[in-house]
Parts: sequence; structure tokens; C-alpha cells
Amino acid sequence: MTWNCRCGDIHEDSERLCYICGMTVTRVLVLQGALGQRKFTIEGRPIPIGNRIYSSLVGPESQYAASSQFNLEKGSDGDWYITACPKTVNATLVNDTLCEDGTPIKLQDGDVIKIGSRVDLSRNFAHLSVSFEIKQ
Ligand SMILES: [Zn+2]
Repeated sequence: MTWNCRCGDIHEDSERLCYICGMTVTRVLVLQGALGQRKFTIEGRPIPIGNRIYSSLVGPESQYAASSQFNLEKGSDGDWYITACPKTVNATLVNDTLCEDGTPIKLQDGDVIKIGSRVDLSRNFAHLSVSFEIKQ
């Protein structure tokens, strides 16, 4: 993915600064569920995601989410990380990888966040697809 700077220069998605004109950009995290999407821009502190936000994104499957299922946080490197909250009834997965409690996983464009049964992770629900928007 690339972004076009106001000066006309074209940059890779991983670049945050235009070396031609000095413009910096931020990466907005977009979570897309079956029923809706939410965008996240806040930097420097964890954003708790639970069944209340889930209900607007996926509807009834929000029942599988805890009141705080995981945290999203934008690191000082400009990338976004997901950290599972401890002791949730159901597990958090990124694609088919289990998020261990307290261990951040870097989110990539095209990832799918799922809530899975701890008994059988292949039974999973409330899928949210991850994408990014560049904001100048
Ligand atoms: Zn520029």
C-alpha cells in the first residue's frame, strides 16, 4: 500500500514522514464487522474493547465478548498492537493465532480478530477485519 503526499511524492505505507516536504501522517486503525465499522486514532494509551463496542460492529455475536476483551494501543513506532485482557471467558485470536494474556501482537492490514472458544479455537465468532487509513 502507498500514500500520496500533498507535495505529490508517493510513499510506502510503512513511511510516516515525507522527506521532501516534511509532512507527517498518522495511521488510523479501522475495525470492520458484519454490521459496522469503527475507526481508532488515539495514541499513547490503551483503548479497551468489549461487548459494548462489539454490539455495534457484529450485533448478537457480541455476547461472546467480555466487558473488556482486549486492548488496542498505538505504539510510539506508529504501529497498532492488540493485547488480550486477562481471564476472559473466551479467547482472542488474530487470524488463527491465540493472543496470550498481556502479550501484545502487532496488527497488520488484512488481519482478522476473532473471539474463540477456549475449548475449541476453531469455534470462533464476531470476526473483525483490520485495515488502516492514512490521515494527513
Ligand atoms: Zn510531501
